[in-house]
Amino acid sequence: MRKTRIAGALAGIAIAALALAGCNSGTPGADPAEPGEGEGDGTWFEVASEPVEVEGSDTVAAITERGKVRIGVKEDQPNLGYLDPTTGERSGFDIDIARWIAASLGYDEEDIEFSVIDSKAREDSITRGDIDYYVGTYSISDARKELISFAGPYFITGQGLLVMADNDTITGPDSLTSDMIICSATGSTSIQNIQRDYPSQTEEFDKYSECVEAMKNGQVDAVTTDEAILLGYAAQDPDNLKVTGEVFSEERYGVGIKKGDTAFVEYVNTLFTDGGDIWQAIFDKNLGAAGVDGNQPAVDPVE
Ligand code: GLU
Repeated sequence: MRKTRIAGALAGIAIAALALAGCNSGTPGADPAEPGEGEGDGTWFEVASEPVEVEGSDTVAAITERGKVRIGVKEDQPNLGYLDPTTGERSGFDIDIARWIAASLGYDEEDIEFSVIDSKAREDSITRGDIDYYVGTYSISDARKELISFAGPYFITGQGLLVMADNDTITGPDSLTSDMIICSATGSTSIQNIQRDYPSQTEEFDKYSECVEAMKNGQVDAVTTDEAILLGYAAQDPDNLKVTGEVFSEERYGVGIKKGDTAFVEYVNTLFTDGGDIWQAIFDKNLGAAGVDGNQPAVDPVE
């Protein structure tokens, strides 16, 4: 077994880079940045040939012991964290970031146990050790850093508004009034921001997809959360839904890790920093193709 910290990350990067060079085991010679056969079945990343240990990381020691990686994700956020109900395939930017980390450590799709964890339950499941890491539109915040650690950021977006396509009243956050009901997810930065800074009433559900349904049923006037998430819902149903106005917060997505496992935070940050074109390929395939703008951000220094 290889016992290294940074070298392990670099080995993973070299191997993942091979996948980008066209060694996709699902479709030999295919460009994995292009949608195509093999992209959703776990063959997108080449997997490190043996489990990589990360010195000083209890998380990675537990993964090695178990031989499985437990990852917390969303599954109702198209282009980010999504489970196709008909094919059973998981897809999205966050899912591929999660797979990239797992592959760099030596774990293939069949070694990954995905758990769906809603916004309100993230800190508890990381703290309890139900999952090894969490990748799901999870904003880095000081309040959350009291409880857990973050690698990243690996993406930056901002809060926006989703309305019915025929709604011309809500044109941005400044058009919100006290007689409107705005829906968001419990435990999110989105619900906190809207309650703190805007006069509207709020409705909360565990999942943003429940808010979208409530809006289609006429129970709420708008859905608010990160624009990258809202664009995914609008793209699924462009005849009925639209994103309106400018973003009104900065949301920096991090990988949630058990508090204090700085060795694992450093490992993931090194993967992001030294990953070459891999971040861009993941972005292009999932978010760029859906019309989302974005560049890879610099990672935060490890605290
Ligand atoms: N990024 C925001 C947050 O972490 C909203 C999206 C979400 O709830 O996952 O709270």
